[in-house]
Amino acid sequence: MTLRLPIYDDVVDASTALGVAAYRTPVLTSQTMNARLDAQVFFKCENFQRIGAFKFRGGYNAVSKLSAAQRKAGVVTFSSGNHAQAIALACQLLDVAATIVMPHDAPAAKKAATVGYGARVISYHRQTEDREQIARALVEEQGLTLIPPFDHADVIAGQGTAVKELLEDVGGLDLLFVPLGGGGLLSGSLLSANALSPECAVYGVEPQAGNDGQQSFRTGAVVHITPPHSIADGALTSALGQLTFPIIKQYARDILTVSDGQLIDAMRFFAERMKMVVEPTGCLGAAAAFNELVPVKGKRVGILLSGGNVDLSAYAGFLQSN
Ligand SMILES: *Cc1c(COP(=O)(O)O)cnc(C)c1O
Repeated sequence: MTLRLPIYDDVVDASTALGVAAYRTPVLTSQTMNARLDAQVFFKCENFQRIGAFKFRGGYNAVSKLSAAQRKAGVVTFSSGNHAQAIALACQLLDVAATIVMPHDAPAAKKAATVGYGARVISYHRQTEDREQIARALVEEQGLTLIPPFDHADVIAGQGTAVKELLEDVGGLDLLFVPLGGGGLLSGSLLSANALSPECAVYGVEPQAGNDGQQSFRTGAVVHITPPHSIADGALTSALGQLTFPIIKQYARDILTVSDGQLIDAMRFFAERMKMVVEPTGCLGAAAAFNELVPVKGKRVGILLSGGNVDLSAYAGFLQSN
């Protein structure tokens, strides 16, 4: 199988495909944070994107690229998180049948949101069943097209549109911090940053407990780990992808890690000072910048806030804890 890596032209193409279906999310600033870091910080707020996370961009782009025959047969994916909602809403908007394979114990609110967008949900038991196998069986038996959460050229290109917008809106940056799970968001962001602000040093940021990306980047080969424990539930992937890793290896400056405590501090900052809900995973990039894991003083710093979907009682717990 030959792999075609996406390029920046695909991101431009994805922007056109998204049109007005995705929001052009705001770029916010905080004088408090600028003063604290002695830097100019720009927050790209994908917590305000449709479905509450950037994943709508990649999901919509991928569904929009399907052939008429593929659209007619429908789409399947496996996810309990933001990618499920992204595919469900994209399919609803583009009039394609969506099937989402979800763990039977997925939060009721997430399942309800997915069903609310008109998707069919197939439940499986995490302990005894393999979600990828279930999805692949649907591909073979019912002719559905599988759209995975990150390792897919059209998904990566769609995710890259967020940083394209950020750089168009604020101009060149010195530093950019991006949350890292499987690397769809980071690799798309790298394509845009390399094209529009080539001097910008781009960092992927993952949970300390699951630093497979950092290990992979530093050893030059994809490292697999057992799924880590962290409150950053959108970044609990066990390995980078076949498409995302080469792009990250080529263009990223480094991969950084932050602790759950640092994520909570960032979440609290956004709630208290900027009046917004950012989910733990969404705070990964911010936590790296706020803790100055690389020097930010005097720099123009972009921070991608990737999402805002968090169970409210869990969120209240995070804000109270220290
Ligand atoms: C999926 C997700 C990520 C990680 O994205 P990848 O493309 O897997 O690296 C980060 N933040 C949020 C909110 C997500 O939903």
